[in-house]
Amino acid sequence: MPFSRQEYEAVVIGSGPNGLSAAITIAEAGRSVLLIEGQETIGGGARSAELTLPGFLHDVCSSVYPMAVWSPFFRRLPLAQYGLEWVHPAAPLAHPLDDGSAVILERSVEQTAQNLGNDGGRYIRLMGPLISAWPKLESSVQNPFSFPAHPFAAMRFGLTVLRSASSLARHAFRGERARALLAGLAGHAVLPLERVPSAAFGLVLGIIAHTQGWPFARGGSQTIVNALARHLGSLGGEIAAGTPISSLEQLPRARLILCDITPRQLLTIAGSQFPAAFRRKLERYRYGPGVCKLDWALDGPIPWKAAECGRAGTVHLGGTFAEIAASERDVWYGRHSERPFVLLAQPTLFDGTRAPAGKHTAWAYCHVPNGSNVDMADAIEKQIERFAPGFRGLILKRSVRVAASLEGYNPNLIGGDIGGGTADLEQFLLRPTRRLYRTPAKGIYLCSSSTPPGPGVHGLCGHLAARAALKDLSQKRGFGAS
Ligand SMILES: Cc1cc2nc3c(=O)[nH]c(=O)nc-3n(C[C@H](O)[C@H](O)[C@H](O)COP(=O)(O)OP(=O)(O)OC[C@H]3O[C@@H](n4cnc5c(N)ncnc54)[C@H](O)[C@@H]3O)c2cc1C
Repeated sequence: MPFSRQEYEAVVIGSGPNGLSAAITIAEAGRSVLLIEGQETIGGGARSAELTLPGFLHDVCSSVYPMAVWSPFFRRLPLAQYGLEWVHPAAPLAHPLDDGSAVILERSVEQTAQNLGNDGGRYIRLMGPLISAWPKLESSVQNPFSFPAHPFAAMRFGLTVLRSASSLARHAFRGERARALLAGLAGHAVLPLERVPSAAFGLVLGIIAHTQGWPFARGGSQTIVNALARHLGSLGGEIAAGTPISSLEQLPRARLILCDITPRQLLTIAGSQFPAAFRRKLERYRYGPGVCKLDWALDGPIPWKAAECGRAGTVHLGGTFAEIAASERDVWYGRHSERPFVLLAQPTLFDGTRAPAGKHTAWAYCHVPNGSNVDMADAIEKQIERFAPGFRGLILKRSVRVAASLEGYNPNLIGGDIGGGTADLEQFLLRPTRRLYRTPAKGIYLCSSSTPPGPGVHGLCGHLAARAALKDLSQKRGFGAS
């Protein structure tokens, strides 16, 4: 047996941000915990590697961390002590347009409004009340199944955000600049913009941009999971990497098994423990579109036509609301968009540790149909050239990962789906089933981004799943899984 002990109180399968957070929560409760990772390195969607040339460090998956700085769980951990430093670009986001200008989402709502022409006042009237109410609402968003501390504020917030981005854009704004900004933000939902709750993703990301920012992790995303792992170690938790789990029989004895994996893998590993009805529910769980991911080593900074894009860590490329909506609709219905909506990050403008002096990296992806084998490099680079002519001339080397290949890198990325399953209305809150973290098999829990509050690096799925497991254990409801 590759583990130092034959028995632990808890075993966690998968060392993504949620697996690490689950293990930390268990260890904080004074329980012994072993975290098992299939790959040789820990971290899941938060690893960094030299994907192009020596000396150029790239974030293999996630790169920009609004949800991490917002996460109350991460905020209370001593991660700075273990080497994690957030780097805030001057502005969270830029959205260039074909007239050569760019909408800049600034930390200040008022400054952002100045970018939006006649919609400036409307933007303040939309975001202002949401941001003022945010401190009262955060806990409901972080833990949607706790009774809201401020039920009326939560209801008002729900009524504003639980709609489609296209309905919000139509009702809240008159001009293209504000609508385009909203389209880019809502595009993170990986849903058609006509679908509920695409507006919720856009508004929550916008609120966090104004309240907490969209930082990078200095030195790359790996520093986040390394800090989590060091904290886990300080609490006595153990980690065994390089150990893919395909059956519960591989595990040491444990009263709790927390799985940082998606429903499809849970069925393979533990399906025999579940009644047929629960298995069917997991089989019906839906995965969304995938992504085609690119990284570049560059000879210089990206030559944006709108120079102010250089102040932003993230740049949304796709032009108008209508164009981004068409691109996301195409993908949803199984087509590759010719002019895809591209999410781009330019970390080395703000963090010089990731590339040789004077050189840069860029990170980008676009949505594609689930399981796609199509290399979108040409379409993505055309979108960048459209707003930054001369970009291609700076490329020293590129790395391309098509959607179908991502699952080989991390088995949670089913068909290249980076969200752990579609987050449409049905699977937005009640994911993957009404039981959320729990399964009918005592002692077996799901703790990945396929549980609430869903995708992103914030650790809350892992933390909340571990709290549910610890509660069951203290009430003697969590035995007999091993
Ligand atoms: C290209 C890309 C870009 C992204 N960009 C961002 C971003 O900028 N900001 C952001 O917040 N989020 C982003 N995300 C999403 C973010 O990475 C995920 O939401 C987050 O990592 C989910 O964490 P998790 O712990 O649930 O799962 P994961 O991070 O996927 O970790 C799961 C871990 O479990 C391991 N595992 C799986 N099966 C087994 C098994 N059978 N045995 C042992 N180990 C196993 C995997 O190897 C992996 O290490 C991005 C994701 C991708 C892929």
